Amino acid sequence: MSTENRQILIAGGGPVGLLCAWLIGRRGIPVRLFDNNSGPQADPRAATTHPATLDLLAEDGLAEDMARVGLVAPIFQFWDRPSGELVAQFDHAVLKNDTRHPFVVQCEQFKTAKLILERLRKCPSVEVLFDCEVLDATQTADAVTAQVRGPSGIVSHSGAYLIGADGGRSTVRRRSGIKFEGFTWPERFIVLTTPYDFEAERGYCYRSYFADPGAWCNCFKVSADGPPGLWRTVYPTDPAQGEDAIMDNAGVQARMQSFFPSPELYEIVHRNLYVTHQRVAETFRTGRVLLAGDAAHVNNPIGGMGLNGGIQDAVSLSDKLIRILLDGAPERLLDLYDLQRRTVAIEFVQEQSIANKKRLEARDPDVRKRNLDELRQIAADPERARQFLLRTAMIASQRRAEGITLARA
Ligand SMILES: Cc1cc2nc3c(=O)[nH]c(=O)nc-3n(C[C@H](O)[C@H](O)[C@H](O)COP(=O)(O)OP(=O)(O)OC[C@H]3O[C@@H](n4cnc5c(N)ncnc54)[C@H](O)[C@@H]3O)c2cc1C
Repeated sequence: MSTENRQILIAGGGPVGLLCAWLIGRRGIPVRLFDNNSGPQADPRAATTHPATLDLLAEDGLAEDMARVGLVAPIFQFWDRPSGELVAQFDHAVLKNDTRHPFVVQCEQFKTAKLILERLRKCPSVEVLFDCEVLDATQTADAVTAQVRGPSGIVSHSGAYLIGADGGRSTVRRRSGIKFEGFTWPERFIVLTTPYDFEAERGYCYRSYFADPGAWCNCFKVSADGPPGLWRTVYPTDPAQGEDAIMDNAGVQARMQSFFPSPELYEIVHRNLYVTHQRVAETFRTGRVLLAGDAAHVNNPIGGMGLNGGIQDAVSLSDKLIRILLDGAPERLLDLYDLQRRTVAIEFVQEQSIANKKRLEARDPDVRKRNLDELRQIAADPERARQFLLRTAMIASQRRAEGITLARA
C-alpha cells in the first residue's frame, strides 16, 4: 500500500483527535492531524475521568500520569442544598473487582491533551498541523480528501480515512451531510472557578452534587497549578437573563452567595458560560469519514461523561482502523464502530446525563423526596451502590459496547 492509501487524516486536535493520532501513529501508520488553533488550548471544560476510561488509558502510563498531574477522587456526594443535608456518599472502592482504577481522576482536559502531545513527539509517522482549518471533505471509493486552509493557502490532502474529531460544531459532520439529532437546553450553564476551599470550609468532597428546586449546582476540585488547587462550581442560568447580567461581578457574586452564603466576597479566577445540547449524530460513519468525540455526540456536563465517551470512541475506532490497515480486517469493522459507540451514546450517555440533570433540578416536593430517598437507599446497599456506580463510572456502557456484534444487530 502507498503511504497515501494508508494515511489517516484527522480534523481536530482536542483530546479525542490527539488520542486517535497517538494510538494509530504509534503503530507506524501515517497520520496527519489538522487543528484550527495556533497551538494547544488551555481548555477548562472537562476534568472528570471515569474508571472505565482510565482502564483504557493505562497503557504507556497515561492514566498514571493523569493522576499525577490531577487529583484522585474516590468518592462523590449528593447534597440537598435547601436543608444542607448530605443525602448520599458513594465510594468507588465497591468497584474494586470491576476496574483497575476504582476511583475518578480529576485531570483538566488541556493537561490530558498535553500528556498525549508529549507522546506524539515520539511518533515520527504523525504530523500535527496547527493553524490548519478543515473546510470540506469529499470521498471516492478509494480515498478521502480534505480541503484545508493553512498558512500557505488552501491545500487538498488525501488519505484512506478521515476522522472528524472537530468538536460539537464539526465541519466534517456538516460537510458530510450527517444530521446532529437532539435538542438544546434553554438555560446556559455557568462555570465559576474559585480558590475558596470548599473541603476545609464546608466539608465537601472533590465531586459534590447539590439538588435544589431553585437552581442546582455541581462543585468540583481541580489541581490547576496547585496545590492548593481550584474549585469549579457549575450552575444553570435563567434563559431570560442577559449575558452581561450573568457574567458581571455583581451577578457572579450574587449567584455564589445565594448558593454558598459567606461573609466574604468570593475570589473568582475564571467565569465561563456554555450553551448545552443533547445531540447524537445520525451515523458515526459515512464511507471513509468517521466521527468521534463531540463531533459525534454532545451532552450536558452533569456526571462528566462527554469527553469520557469521546475517549472511548477514540480507542474503539483506532483499534478497528489499525486492524483494517495492518491486519487486513474487513471494513465492516467500521460499521461495528458506529453501532457500538452510537448505541451507548444514546442508551447510556444521553439517558444518564439527562436523568442526572432532572434529579438535581426536580421541583415537585414528592418527586424530590422520592429521588433523595432512592439515593439514600442505594448508598446504604453495597450491591445497589455497585450497580449504580457501574453506570456512573461508565463501566456498564463499555461492557454493553463490547458486547455488541454486527451479527446480532
Ligand atoms: C463546562 C463543561 C464541563 C465538562 N466537564 C466534563 C467532564 O468533567 N468530563 C467529561 O468527560 N466531559 C466533560 N465535558 C465535555 C468535554 O469538554 C468535551 O466532551 C470534550 O472537549 C470533547 O473533546 P473533543 O476532542 O471531541 O472536542 P474538542 O475538545 O471540542 O476539540 C475539537 C478541536 O477541533 C478544532 N476544530 C474545530 N473545527 C475545526 C476545523 N474545521 N478544522 C480543524 N480543527 C477544528 C477545535 O479548535 C478543537 O481544538 C464538559 C463540557 C463542559 C462545557
